[in-house]
Amino acid sequence: MLIISDLHAEVDGKPILKGLSLTVNPGEVHAIMGPNGAGKSTLGYVLSGRAGYEVTGGSVTFEGRDLLDMEAHERAAAGLFLGFQYPVEIPGVSNLNFLRTALNAQRKLRGEAEASGAEFMKLVKGHAEDLGLSMDMLKRPVNVGFSGGEKKRNEMVQMAVIAPRLAVLDETDSGLDIDALRVVSDGINRLRSPERATLLITHYQRLLDYVVPDFVHVLVAGRIVRSGGAELAHELEREGYGAIAA
Ligand code: ADP
Ligand code: MG
Ligand code: MG
Repeated sequence: MLIISDLHAEVDGKPILKGLSLTVNPGEVHAIMGPNGAGKSTLGYVLSGRAGYEVTGGSVTFEGRDLLDMEAHERAAAGLFLGFQYPVEIPGVSNLNFLRTALNAQRKLRGEAEASGAEFMKLVKGHAEDLGLSMDMLKRPVNVGFSGGEKKRNEMVQMAVIAPRLAVLDETDSGLDIDALRVVSDGINRLRSPERATLLITHYQRLLDYVVPDFVHVLVAGRIVRSGGAELAHELEREGYGAIAA
């Protein structure tokens, strides 16, 4: 599904990713862990196609296509979902309008029929109810005035409605209380299926108690220095990144 090969990227002329390789197959959940400044968010931004993150070497293939050659909206339409630590606020655009536009843009690019108003509302209401987001919140402008926990809930509703092939979530657990952490974990776990995959970028082991990954990778100074199973996260929690990276 996703093949990252010897990826090099820089920001402001400063090399950040220095030969990162990673393969994600359908059905798998991978966790990327690492100390602050390791390049975790940079990896997320490079996958999203954000301006200012310049790829200087290597390749990224998503479902057989050259991801780096695709525009950000093409990546989304191809089934890539990116959730970031600080979700954007979009004043003047209601959550419902935003979701409907995102869903239909994807369907259109896949050559599928747009969702009717009734179909769309049924889909959104079901997911919002499951994830504890009220109708009132759905009518409000995207993320404006939402608490940290509400933004995460909202992000999980977006993800559930869009049902991406690959979700890349960066520090989606940061600053969450235990209830919000459960919501986020539920959102991720509900999307687990043999056709979908998740790349969880996190500094802390906590989220991985709720979303048990198939693989854990340790990113240090722009490279994956170690890979293992879920137990590697516990080892990191016990021993710290220093011991692993040494
Ligand atoms: P992590 O998410 O693992 O904490 P980041 O990818 O955010 O790491 O950052 C990796 C390195 O890149 C850090 O040294 C950071 O200061 C630098 N960096 C990230 N984004 C920018 C930017 N927009 N401008 C300049 N330096 C940046
Ligand atoms: Mg950081
Ligand atoms: Mg980060």
